[in-house]
Amino acid sequence: MAFGAGTAPRRPFDSAHRLFPACRPAVGGHGVEDDKTFMARALEIARDEMLGSGAAPFGAVIVRDGKIVGEGVNRVVTAHDPTSHGEVEAIRDAGRNLGTWDLSGCTLYTTCEPCEMCVAAMYWAKIDAMVYACRLSDAEAIGFDLQPLTKLVRSDLADRDLPARQMMADEGRAVLKLWTEQPDFGTF
Ligand SMILES: [Zn+2]
Repeated sequence: MAFGAGTAPRRPFDSAHRLFPACRPAVGGHGVEDDKTFMARALEIARDEMLGSGAAPFGAVIVRDGKIVGEGVNRVVTAHDPTSHGEVEAIRDAGRNLGTWDLSGCTLYTTCEPCEMCVAAMYWAKIDAMVYACRLSDAEAIGFDLQPLTKLVRSDLADRDLPARQMMADEGRAVLKLWTEQPDFGTF
């Protein structure tokens, strides 16, 4: 798809579908052919990693100003890291390459619509737009069960299946307060 120029304001975290609507204009103005090149690269590294190491074939590339600034593939099993999804790895790679956690102005190309963890990672990285190949329904069709994660993320704290309890709240707030008192304090 061809994107127009322009930057939309940050939206509140909602869901993958509403946070990154496919028709939303993206920064960079990548043309259709550029889009195909970037997605082809994401597919290539996903396929190569799968054939080379037996990893799950999910890959992502991050593009700023028409250039790839980060790449990542799923290494959950090979790296013993459950957070090693292609999108997260691409964000980490782009951050290292650009020397910043702020990926404003970047578009992420992923071989599969991201899970909630990766949507959150893109939110924190301030990724501006996303292009995807497969849908999550394609991943579900080959055996991934994503409903428990969706239910967990969308449930209130007290309603989650994951047991959680609060303790040392005052001490926790004291650490936060100490941070706000630092000369270079600033949230992100
Ligand atoms: Zn993910």
